[in-house]
Amino acid sequence: MNIALIAHDKKKEDMINFSLAYSHILEEHQLYATGTTGKLITKATGLNIFRFKSGPLGGDQQIGAMIATNEMDMIIFFRDPLTAQPHEPDVSALMRLCDVYQIPLATNIAASEIFLLGLERGDLKWREVIKERQQKEGNR
Ligand code: PGA
Repeated sequence: MNIALIAHDKKKEDMINFSLAYSHILEEHQLYATGTTGKLITKATGLNIFRFKSGPLGGDQQIGAMIATNEMDMIIFFRDPLTAQPHEPDVSALMRLCDVYQIPLATNIAASEIFLLGLERGDLKWREVIKERQQKEGNR
């Protein structure tokens, strides 16, 4: 599965701890992240992560583009609900696309833990079926 990891600045420490705790699950998948989040996770865990641009510089939109082309299977996004973000429109657009394409989106650590445990036991296999079907139909 392709999984995107994003954390706003005040949530980055939570993301590092989360990635450390679940690295045994995360390492089985293709990981993507916004720039700074990815750099910090890799430094702390050694996980191999493809890094997009930093969120405020377009990284959220790059992840959104992967959702629109059906290439992203899960978004783990530790949002900071108490701090205004300069790229709030990008954040909203990313979350909107998750709803457009039925992509699982966890916006806090509690939901993210459930997502990863579900992922480990195969709850997201349906994504493979949808991707195969859409590839057959050439509907990307
Ligand atoms: P960053 O971006 O990982 O580059 O800090 C995250 C964000 O704020 O969207």
